[in-house]
Amino acid sequence: MDKEMEKLAIKGGYPVRSGKIYYGRQWIDESDVEAVANVLRGDYITCGPKVEELERTLEKYTGAKHAVAVSNGTAALHCACLAAGIGPGDEVITTPLTFAASANCVLYCGGTPVFADVEADTYNIDPNSIREKITPKTKAIIAVDFTGQAVKNKEIREICDEFNLIFIEDAAHSIATKYNGKQVGSLADMTCFSFHPVKTITGGEGGAVLTNNDEYHKRVVLAHTHGITHDAALMEDAPHEGPWYYEEIALGYNYRITDFQAALIVNQMKKLDSFAARRKEIVKKYDEAFKDVPEIIVQKEIPESDTCRHLYIVQLDLDKLTCTRREFFDAMSAENVQCQIHYIPVYWFPYYRKLGYNKGLCPVAEQIYKGIVSIPLYPKMNDQDVADVIHAVKKVVENYKK
Ligand SMILES: *Cc1c(COP(=O)(O)O)cnc(C)c1O
Repeated sequence: MDKEMEKLAIKGGYPVRSGKIYYGRQWIDESDVEAVANVLRGDYITCGPKVEELERTLEKYTGAKHAVAVSNGTAALHCACLAAGIGPGDEVITTPLTFAASANCVLYCGGTPVFADVEADTYNIDPNSIREKITPKTKAIIAVDFTGQAVKNKEIREICDEFNLIFIEDAAHSIATKYNGKQVGSLADMTCFSFHPVKTITGGEGGAVLTNNDEYHKRVVLAHTHGITHDAALMEDAPHEGPWYYEEIALGYNYRITDFQAALIVNQMKKLDSFAARRKEIVKKYDEAFKDVPEIIVQKEIPESDTCRHLYIVQLDLDKLTCTRREFFDAMSAENVQCQIHYIPVYWFPYYRKLGYNKGLCPVAEQIYKGIVSIPLYPKMNDQDVADVIHAVKKVVENYKK
């Protein structure tokens, strides 16, 4: 290849590709459009048969006993915390390397998020750090399957059993991932999915809570619809007032999902396994391509996790490069490969600082944060897109390596 071609676009060279590619995007086809349109032409646009169908589909796919579809992943986490009985004085251990919602849901309930550090190689919450953070006030663990890789379910379950804690899995990244052959969704006490457009399948917005526990299921159902029940068996006062009668027996929210969103997710579920297969294929190509690039560290996977990856992260070994992470990011952008950073440690945000959290709390997560960049990963990428991303990464690294 001639030298001029490999000059960085940010320094006036030609970009690796002409059209911009983004770190993630949905894949909506005509069958999805049809599924939504059919609902809009019908009688129910919310609280109808498609919501039920989605719940049964999620149960069948994951093997969980119950699924409750809700308006988004954050609502799912909030409902799970409500069902777990989180309240003032309770501590909930989670990871800082996540989207803010994984910790915000604890604050919604008046509880206190406590951040455990992550493992340097897998980037997932470290069971040893969890143990160090447990106090008599600890009530639950919200473990995030970061980038789609299942957390160490066995170790976390053992901790929960030992200290009588509730295990909530934030699986916003990990639908279609298996841990020791079992589908994510069937493992923790409660598992939360998100169907935001950057996630593996989408409803525009949407979420779900899955559980094998009848009591948690009952509480999540109440939490997502005003704490109101039409079920005579649950009523406390007068179930015989008349057919119109219902009771509010808890304080709940309106976290319902519409039927047209549910129809979209049900239709996307049909493609989940093929989406997952394509994601795995791309991850394999990336792993292969970056194996011999010493300036780049890739995420380690535990053998128990059969991962459907939501994100692909390259961690820059900045000691081996002359650029900063920001310069790498900008150079990639000029090559028309738009990256993203997942995530800024949650407790670094001004809101959390005002609550008393300080930098330095989780040194491993902070160290990882300094070098990470998420490169494009979504099933609609074609082989040329994948090759372009690899080319861009190698080109930028080549230009900045020491
Ligand atoms: C996306 C995401 C959420 C929130 O889901 P929404 O559907 O956007 O509310 C929660 N946790 C993690 C780890 C996420 O990536």
